[in-house]
Amino acid sequence: MDDLVKFKPAATRAAPATRGRPSREEAEAAVRTLIAWAGDDPEREGLIDTPRRVVKSYEELFSGYGEDPNAALARVFKEVDGYADMVLVRDIPFVSHCEHHMAPFLGKANIGYYPRNGVVGLSKLARIVDTFAKRLQTQEAMTAQIAETVDDALKTRGVAVLVEAEHMCMSIRGVRKHGVSTTTTQFTGLFQGDSNEQMRFLTLLRGAR
Ligand SMILES: [Zn+2]
Repeated sequence: MDDLVKFKPAATRAAPATRGRPSREEAEAAVRTLIAWAGDDPEREGLIDTPRRVVKSYEELFSGYGEDPNAALARVFKEVDGYADMVLVRDIPFVSHCEHHMAPFLGKANIGYYPRNGVVGLSKLARIVDTFAKRLQTQEAMTAQIAETVDDALKTRGVAVLVEAEHMCMSIRGVRKHGVSTTTTQFTGLFQGDSNEQMRFLTLLRGAR
């Protein structure tokens, strides 16, 4: 019960170090346990180095826990010669892992915003997508976290985020449906509740393809 009360959404959740991070040896031992559970022999030649490799790849796949998404947006360019229309960054590729099965889900994120006090370098928006993707996620939470972070950092007039992804937990196990794409959207500011603005965002996204 206590645990439930302390649960926070991913955006504000602290790095796992606060709970006492297991050692690398403990993490490798856990992988050996899973190999044995799957029915194989973790000591055979082909698998002997696998726990080390898996733990190393986890460092990369889940590097988002060690990154501050706000840091990427700290540098705002204010000289935009009065540019006030929508800034749209399309097709930012990402790989994430669903928090229910720890299976990959991969796709593309699209971000549009109306600047108020300035803009950020376009690669920085890709960076924050990566930071949130490289955590255990739901697509819905990730979409909301991206929108919230861009909105907070840039004090925009509105942010629109659309994420499309295929979830391996659906395509390689369970219902085993390939090629099913899930779309999630999140709107803030002047996009929120304004179907014309939402439509403009979606039209610009499609038109530019
Ligand atoms: Zn899943």
